[in-house]
Amino acid sequence: MRKPILAGNWKMFKTVAQAQSFVEHLQQLAPNTTDVEAVLCAPATSLYALNNLLAGGTIKLAAQNLHQAEEGAYTGEVSALMLKDVGCSYVIIGHSERRQYFGETDDTVNQKVHAAFKHGLLPIICVGEDLDQRNQGITKNWVEEQVRAALANVSADDVSRVVIAYEPIWAIGTGQTATAQDAGDVCTHIRQVASEMYGKEKGDLLRIQYGGSVKPENIAELMAQPDIDGALVGGASLDPGSFAKLLQGA
Ligand code: PGA
Repeated sequence: MRKPILAGNWKMFKTVAQAQSFVEHLQQLAPNTTDVEAVLCAPATSLYALNNLLAGGTIKLAAQNLHQAEEGAYTGEVSALMLKDVGCSYVIIGHSERRQYFGETDDTVNQKVHAAFKHGLLPIICVGEDLDQRNQGITKNWVEEQVRAALANVSADDVSRVVIAYEPIWAIGTGQTATAQDAGDVCTHIRQVASEMYGKEKGDLLRIQYGGSVKPENIAELMAQPDIDGALVGGASLDPGSFAKLLQGA
């Protein structure tokens, strides 16, 4: 019922030439993947060029951030309209690195979600606990608060098009993955929260990704969890061969 979604988050890696070469390579390895929605979250500098390469294919383009304002005197920022203009379908919002290094809060995340929808971009909203919170046993409460805050005043129609990425911070880039069972439990909780907020029918439509050291070797096990509908992948998405394997595994 829910189409799996695999998103590669390149973070601050790849020049335009490197990004183009990745796509050309991936198109040979995994032409027209339709069972899984494939999304490339590229740096802003490569989006325009990648959109031209991806035109007519099934791979979707995403940005890694946006600014919540329509336009204005925000030096260095990029708006939802601009991202839509260069062909983005999705945008990552509230990645833990943005929360940690760039001062993003639940409130700015919510504003960005609204800005994305206003311009026809679909948000991939990141939530997740740090190691301290995990050790305190407050993971589910913490994640629930993040989900509720991110979705504040989002309409029921829009919520069925949201993607939530559950990314335990301690698992990002560390090689340490949550066990499939643990990750699956938190994702089930996220779906329950969405169902409480919007009704079961809408909750069932929400797609939930797991992220944090996902690799070709562990993706199938994670995807076997009933409430995990895909993955947000950093390190293992940088190589086209590895990304193609992730697509197969998903
Ligand atoms: P990782 O990153 O796959 O390198 O752990 C995931 C992410 O930050 O989205």
